[in-house]
Amino acid sequence: MDEQAKIPRATAKRLPIYYRYLTFLEDAGTHRISSAELAEATKFDAATIRRDFSYFGALGKRGYGYDVKALLSFFAKVLDQSSLINVALIGVGHLGQALLNFNFHQSSNMRIAAAFDINEHRGKILSGVPIYDMSELEEQIRAQRINIAILTVPQEEAQGITDKLVEAGVKGIMNFTPLRVSVPDGVRVQNVDLTNELQTLVYFIQNYATITTGK
Ligand code: ATP
Repeated sequence: MDEQAKIPRATAKRLPIYYRYLTFLEDAGTHRISSAELAEATKFDAATIRRDFSYFGALGKRGYGYDVKALLSFFAKVLDQSSLINVALIGVGHLGQALLNFNFHQSSNMRIAAAFDINEHRGKILSGVPIYDMSELEEQIRAQRINIAILTVPQEEAQGITDKLVEAGVKGIMNFTPLRVSVPDGVRVQNVDLTNELQTLVYFIQNYATITTGK
């Protein structure tokens, strides 16, 4: 899609949030929305929203606003063809929130597009990322065509959630829990145990200090 190349990255990054609110509106039976209403809901300013939408070729009509259904089907296509890789994050605790803040955006085309939890953050937007209830996991992962997930939940929840992710079609899991989760063939797990990494470093420093000085 030619127009795709012209969409600025900052605009593309706001797309999942627009998509989320439009899905919500459609479910509620709302057919149209103004940029001012969208601004209120997403906390982006209305001028930014109008400019973003103009990149998508969606021009709101004065006194009418935007057609929710038309925007949704267009966004679904753009999300699908976007060069950005959308990743899900499960578990918005301390580590999860740090990763949401970090969000990989400076140096790469990957970003966390949706986060999930069972805690009080559900329904909020943190660091520009919508937080969904776990009951929406499968639906959102499929709708946003996400096939990579980051796991920052308590260890005892890791296997159950991994099974749900696999069921939803996820093909890659970055596992920050100490549990070695089981997955079927065709699904890849990358384990990142930060405590373990630091412990390994401490061990080397304590035991091989003289060798590693390089002198
Ligand atoms: P961290 O371990 O990242 O420092 P924390 O100490 O704040 O976080 P944990 O108990 O490790 O909290 O849980 C991490 C996050 O995982 C929390 O936000 C918690 O609500 C969430 N969580 C716990 N169980 C589930 C579950 N079954 N599904 C989704 N999220 C869960």
